[in-house]
Amino acid sequence: MSTNETHVKVLILGSGPAGLSAALYAARAELAPVVLTGMQLGGQAALTHTIENYPGFPTGVGGPELGELFQKQAEHFGAKVEFDMAHEVDLSQRPFKVVTDTGEYTADTLILSTGANPTHLNVPGEVELTGRGVSYCATCDGWFFKDKKVVVVGGGDSAIEESLFITRYASSVTVIHRRDELRASPILQKRAKAHPKMNFIWDTVVTEVVGTEKVDTLKLKNIKTGAESTYDTDGLFIFIGHVPNSQMFKGQLEISDLGHILVNDKMETSVPGVYAAGEIADPHFRQVVTSAGMGAAAAIQATRFLEAESE
Ligand code: NAP
Repeated sequence: MSTNETHVKVLILGSGPAGLSAALYAARAELAPVVLTGMQLGGQAALTHTIENYPGFPTGVGGPELGELFQKQAEHFGAKVEFDMAHEVDLSQRPFKVVTDTGEYTADTLILSTGANPTHLNVPGEVELTGRGVSYCATCDGWFFKDKKVVVVGGGDSAIEESLFITRYASSVTVIHRRDELRASPILQKRAKAHPKMNFIWDTVVTEVVGTEKVDTLKLKNIKTGAESTYDTDGLFIFIGHVPNSQMFKGQLEISDLGHILVNDKMETSVPGVYAAGEIADPHFRQVVTSAGMGAAAAIQATRFLEAESE
């Protein structure tokens, strides 16, 4: 074992609700789990301003605050949270090997909860103007659009929830959606449609983001009529879904066409001793509460696996 190689019973990749819940359960099973945080402590939930549907918080809870509470609770029982990033895994034999930014781990079991990243529109100008008007995070960037015009693309819960959040700052929020009805839940739709700062452009897609120093204009296309137009805006927020962060595990685990790690109802992947939880393995629900549940289930199963081995 090299000097910067650490052996653990349970190594958890990712510190969103799934990873930190897994850490809590594995810690309470006295397995001294280590969590590698990845880029963002608390995962995507930490980028959400207010979470209104996590049970136990009747008036909502801040996303970063919930992440910190998860972390505190897991650490209280002995979990170790390391600000580190895994970038290579070897699942071909046990103990599994994980190479990180700072060293190497070997682990008897692995819980993969590396979450998902925002989907891009893949239109000209999007990459070039990211950080200069194009954003995927309202909590991070909403403040920069005080009294400015903002466009949001998407029709799901994320797009509508984040649009409502941006109305705190922006002078107007225009939702551009590719259909003529929203996918978002009725309660959010109702709030958005009644909001005086919000308006909607239906059946329309953004075909190009135009600007030099910053976003100035969007090129639009009505997909029913084919009519093309332009729309001036200061900002473009894109909330059109997520891609699971499963790249690192390709070829080593069974993964769906959409990139989700395939798990059974015990969160077991195709490799014994490797579990997956949260958005990396969930094409259906993607809620904080469901991810936390999957994380807990994965840790319980990892505990049973290790117990069976030591019998
Ligand atoms: P989503 O539900 O998959 O919605 C994605 C939206 O983007 C859809 O309206 C989709 O249009 C549109 N879209 C997809 N690709 C597009 C493209 N290339 N160009 C233009 N539009 C495109 O994703 P989400 O809103 O991120 O939500 C993900 C999950 O998290 C959902 O299960 C959601 O319920 C959950 N969530 C819940 C809450 C909450 O409970 N408060 C908050 C956030 C997220 P179509 O409608 O035409 O398909």
